[in-house]
Amino acid sequence: MAGQINAFEMAQKQFDGVAKMLNLDPQIAEVLRWPMREFSFRIPVRMDDGTIRVFQGYRVQHNDSRGPNKGGIRFHPNETFDTVRALATWMTWKCAVADIPLGGGKGGIIVDPSSLTTPEKERLCRGWVQNMWKNIGPRQDVPAPDVGTTPQMMGWMMDEYSKLVGQYTPGVFTGKPLGGGGSEGRTEATGYGVIYTVREAMKHLKMDPKKTVAAIEGFGNVAQYAAIGFIEMLGGKVACVSCWDRNDKTSYTYSHKDGIDPRFLLTITDQYGTIDQTKAKAAGYVIEDGEKWIEKECDVLIPAAIEGHVNGETVQKMSKRVKIVAEGANGPCTPEADEYFKKNGIFDIPDFLCNAGGVTTSYFESVQNDMNFYWTKNEVLEKLDTKMTSAFHAVLNMSQKENVYMRDAAYMVAIDRVVKAMQLRGQI
Ligand code: NAD
Repeated sequence: MAGQINAFEMAQKQFDGVAKMLNLDPQIAEVLRWPMREFSFRIPVRMDDGTIRVFQGYRVQHNDSRGPNKGGIRFHPNETFDTVRALATWMTWKCAVADIPLGGGKGGIIVDPSSLTTPEKERLCRGWVQNMWKNIGPRQDVPAPDVGTTPQMMGWMMDEYSKLVGQYTPGVFTGKPLGGGGSEGRTEATGYGVIYTVREAMKHLKMDPKKTVAAIEGFGNVAQYAAIGFIEMLGGKVACVSCWDRNDKTSYTYSHKDGIDPRFLLTITDQYGTIDQTKAKAAGYVIEDGEKWIEKECDVLIPAAIEGHVNGETVQKMSKRVKIVAEGANGPCTPEADEYFKKNGIFDIPDFLCNAGGVTTSYFESVQNDMNFYWTKNEVLEKLDTKMTSAFHAVLNMSQKENVYMRDAAYMVAIDRVVKAMQLRGQI
């Protein structure tokens, strides 16, 4: 996905490093460095003009020792089996770090969803479920939205599954629309979760949030609410956001001399996270190359778009002022970037801790589906804050106790919990 970087090799490399640090039995490591089950299938879809197009679909179930597999479905033109494998692996660690009783999974389809009409998208979503329904379910594997997929799509998928099994089963997909089995707070959850961890990192580093500036990559679901949270919860300023322009097929950075106004930008952004250039320019925004976001003068970098963009090369362009990197996206920083952070004393909040707010609220959603009783947005966000804060401190404590880098500490907390569950179940 990210040029020369293979995301799954990166996930395995990170795991191998920590397995060594933990002195993990090589036989156990061999189980955990690979997904337990994988699905690859072709989905024929009748297009509006009567022709049939065939799409490549995937689902990877990495580990379910702590509970049903959990993880999003991505619709992306550059999706690969290895990207899905990497993301499924990270989900296992993410659920374990967040301390929710779920395992790791991920799915995808190679497609640019913006090239499809609404009825074509619905048929594609239903086609994915027709291939996978026997291997997913509230007690088996619970998918959710991710890049390129929406709450509406989860609604269609849940409906298709319910039809196939013959009963209303809202807990099979999370991230559903409100009124269709969805949870309050799910839209904001990942971005706000990022900000809860940034807030705790700032307390730890004794930074005054009101005096800080953030630079954000992306302007999709995660980046939008990270930007809003940074300004409205912390009182900081956001120098820029960026996006992939689906018309120009290139990325751009949007900045404003007074700091960006995410609530305004939301009004001129389409459902795929592409910002309207003409309207942004008219409102005084400066539009530059998509790589520029990383060069902005700031204290906090929040990569919240795509994997591998903070790498050995781009990291050299970072402002020397940066103290915190909060990984909103999955796998945005490469091992070379990690080396740079370690050398320069930059505090990294690793992806599977930083962006665990989405899956935690997904878990809350399935709990509410099970109870058939729904919480208010405040109740959801309060519970989310408690979970994220406790996850952050579990990792920080491990990092201080073992004198290790935050990503390694997060892996240590997660792997320890997964191995314990496997041992308790007699799987190893
Ligand atoms: P999204 O589809 O809503 O938005 C993606 C954003 O990234 C868009 O603004 C898009 O224009 C931008 N983008 C895509 N390619 C780009 C490029 N090459 N350069 C610059 N910008 C680019 O996706 P999202 O839900 O916000 O997810 C973003 C990241 O966060 C992904 O890595 C995803 O796996 C991860 N994540 C999402 C959630 C969630 O709840 N949505 C949870 C955890 C992790």
